[in-house]
Amino acid sequence: DNPQPKKPSWIRVKAPAGKGYMDTRNIMREHKLVTVCEEAGCPNVGECWSRGHATMMIMGEVCTRACTFCNIATGKPPKDLDVFEPGRVADAVQKLGLNHVVVTSVDRDDIEDGGAEHFAQTIRAIRHRSPGTTIEILTPDFLNCPPEALEVVVAAKPDVFNHNLETVPGLYPQVRPGARYFHSLRLLQRVKELDPHMFTKSGIMAGLGEDRQAVHQVMDDMRAANVDFLTIGQYLQPTPKHHAVDRFVTPEEFAAYEKAAYGKGFLMVSATPLTRSSYHAGDDFARLRAA
Ligand code: SF4
Ligand code: SF4
Repeated sequence: DNPQPKKPSWIRVKAPAGKGYMDTRNIMREHKLVTVCEEAGCPNVGECWSRGHATMMIMGEVCTRACTFCNIATGKPPKDLDVFEPGRVADAVQKLGLNHVVVTSVDRDDIEDGGAEHFAQTIRAIRHRSPGTTIEILTPDFLNCPPEALEVVVAAKPDVFNHNLETVPGLYPQVRPGARYFHSLRLLQRVKELDPHMFTKSGIMAGLGEDRQAVHQVMDDMRAANVDFLTIGQYLQPTPKHHAVDRFVTPEEFAAYEKAAYGKGFLMVSATPLTRSSYHAGDDFARLRAA
């Protein structure tokens, strides 16, 4: 009843295979770790895993939110967090020999601190076992948590603090119904206030129905909150029950977004159809540090 636009030629996804891919998969299974790469059906999994890049998801597989673009199960998560999880993540990071790791989580509105302490423990565990690995976290919004929740995470000193705005404010009721645009923006701003040396990062998806002007406004809002890095990628509908793809944004339009974003002062921008929040994050970060 809602025919989806046909996938254009620039959305090409290679089937995952190869030794590097299998090794990553085995280590994840062995450590009982959940990855966004698999849960979200990310189109880059073949490429990323064969190069030892992965995004690990902590605090379970069930989310208390129900964003309409997201393939993670919604419901009531098991009450207690797994106290051994930070150690298992750290062990996997070490075994995979990652230079850069991305750690994210489901939303846990059922926990008073939103899982902040668990995030902090995971950061510290990775740091302890792999001091040379740069750590990027992609966090929930900690809505309705005490202000200290964010402080606990920032105090654990991740190298990059990422929180995605996901879409333009006008589409929040349809796309991110449990979230508030200005709360998320303020969260990013607070990270910089708490630690001016920490890199902050955010991203949105394109093709959900936003217009160019609104995307530029989001970029301006992010820069007003001193966000350093930006990602923009094409939204792909995970199942027919999820938010429809409004259209496929062309590679030229993405290139124009990237150019505009650099003009607005972002330090690092990735805007391509297959850009994901964590796509090539490690390479980009290494490049920036070397510059
Ligand atoms: Fe995983 Fe991110 Fe790579 Fe996708 S882009 S496979 S989520 S690391
Ligand atoms: Fe998915 Fe995150 Fe939304 Fe939960 S909060 S439904 S994990 S995007």
